[in-house]
Amino acid sequence: MPEILEVESARQLIEARALHRTIGRVHAPDAWFLKRGLTARAVRSALTGRELVAARRRGKLILVDTGANGPVLGLHLGMSGRVIVDGEAAGDPLIYASNRAVSAWHRFGLRFADGGSLYLRDPRRLGAVELDPDEDRLGPDAYSVTLPYVRSVLTRSRAPVKAVLMDQSRIAGLGNLLCDEVLWRAGVDPARVACTLADDDTRRVSRAIRDTLRILGRRGGSHTGDLTAQREPGAHCPRDGAPLVRRTVGGRTTFSCPLHQR
Ligand SMILES: [Zn+2]
Repeated sequence: MPEILEVESARQLIEARALHRTIGRVHAPDAWFLKRGLTARAVRSALTGRELVAARRRGKLILVDTGANGPVLGLHLGMSGRVIVDGEAAGDPLIYASNRAVSAWHRFGLRFADGGSLYLRDPRRLGAVELDPDEDRLGPDAYSVTLPYVRSVLTRSRAPVKAVLMDQSRIAGLGNLLCDEVLWRAGVDPARVACTLADDDTRRVSRAIRDTLRILGRRGGSHTGDLTAQREPGAHCPRDGAPLVRRTVGGRTTFSCPLHQR
């Protein structure tokens, strides 16, 4: 499933290939895919004849600007969505095993006047498209959070530290796999009450967010984590060999090491 790293790859693909091309037609066959009252007619009329001029991202939301007085196009990849520009997809195909080139899965698209296209292909149909999304419902992007900021969100919460890191209104972009990897790298138990973390723990969490995004980004995506590879029954900690624990924390399946994550 796409995490922030895959969403960033999709953003980069749009930036590299889809900007400054006139939108000839808007493909919006699936009313359910359009969110917050958006209709196929409204999105067609808002985008036809315009160009995409910048591709931004906040957490897992892609924000595409369409020029002066134009709307911001918000793309959510959901659980299985992929951005395809001129037939080429972003990201490692390994994590999109279910996402083959099936045109029925093109839930939304732009056909450019030059003959090319941008599609959001989504087998599970859990992605979404909206215009002028409320960007401020999201916290700062995970790539940009600083130690003082991480400290401020953790010290204010009595929720499990994993639930705080996954709360998109506090830090935008960390999903289930990345949070488990971050906390495993930081040596912090995901179920710890956030405000009980010592400052040393908080420093390690903050550093692990940066390291995890950098290292997994370089390796090719969110499925390349050291802990991620061990998410199965009977698995052992890659650091110390202890049997991993599988629990539900913050409503999500969580793997952690009882030996070095405290
Ligand atoms: Zn361990």
